Amino acid sequence: RKEVGRISVGSQGFNDLIGGGIETQSITEVFGEFGSGKSQISHELAVTVQLPIEQGGLEGQCVFIDTENTFRPERIIQIADGFELDHEEVLSNIHIARAFNSSHQILMAESINELIQQGNNIKLVIVDSLMAHFRAEYVGRESLAVRQQKLNQHLHALQQIANTYNVAVFITNQVQAKPDAFFGSPTKAIGGHVLGHASTYRIWLKKGLAGKRIARLVDSPHLPEGECVFKITSDGIVD
Ligand code: ADP
Repeated sequence: RKEVGRISVGSQGFNDLIGGGIETQSITEVFGEFGSGKSQISHELAVTVQLPIEQGGLEGQCVFIDTENTFRPERIIQIADGFELDHEEVLSNIHIARAFNSSHQILMAESINELIQQGNNIKLVIVDSLMAHFRAEYVGRESLAVRQQKLNQHLHALQQIANTYNVAVFITNQVQAKPDAFFGSPTKAIGGHVLGHASTYRIWLKKGLAGKRIARLVDSPHLPEGECVFKITSDGIVD
């Protein structure tokens, strides 16, 4: 088993909350309402994964599976400039994959195997957002079982890539602000673990006062629950 690597989310407090950054060989899920910062953290990680290890990166490339057209190259440039990186190079190390529907999304995730076997040093896979297509396509109670089955197939492929190639997987999940959203996780179903033995981190993002954000670790294999405050600035995620 290869040593677990960690990727900084930009804020020290946030990194401390999750044990030093998001982990390779794991799936980390952030969930929260619209505007809570899920895509912003995705953009941040797409840059920080490229940093040297001593700066919180893994000197690796990223695959960004974009399902809702939320990927913004301009935002990557801003964040890269904040780290004084060559932003053209940073952009060239992000493999953008636009998924048009859920089947396409599943195929794209599975094709990451080939991308890595071709010699691309992928250390992070982002799926922003995991559920949008699945929710739109499988509507109504009668389709829930099929939806869950397809979702399991997708998550299984992502976990396999994480384990085989020592890659971190980061998924976003939009939920309503209401507490019942707690049960809206794709990675944990009510009454059972969808992902089986997969180690999964779940982080709940909330909007705080004065533009601040709160991250709450709600589920982790070996870390205590807790929360931290962070900010989204033009340079990216900060304390
Ligand atoms: P979601 O959870 O829906 O993915 P986002 O990650 O897109 O939410 O967060 C959007 C919020 O991020 C905006 O409302 C704004 O507060 C903040 N934001 C986005 N870009 C910037 C920026 N360049 N500078 C400061 N804040 C930003």
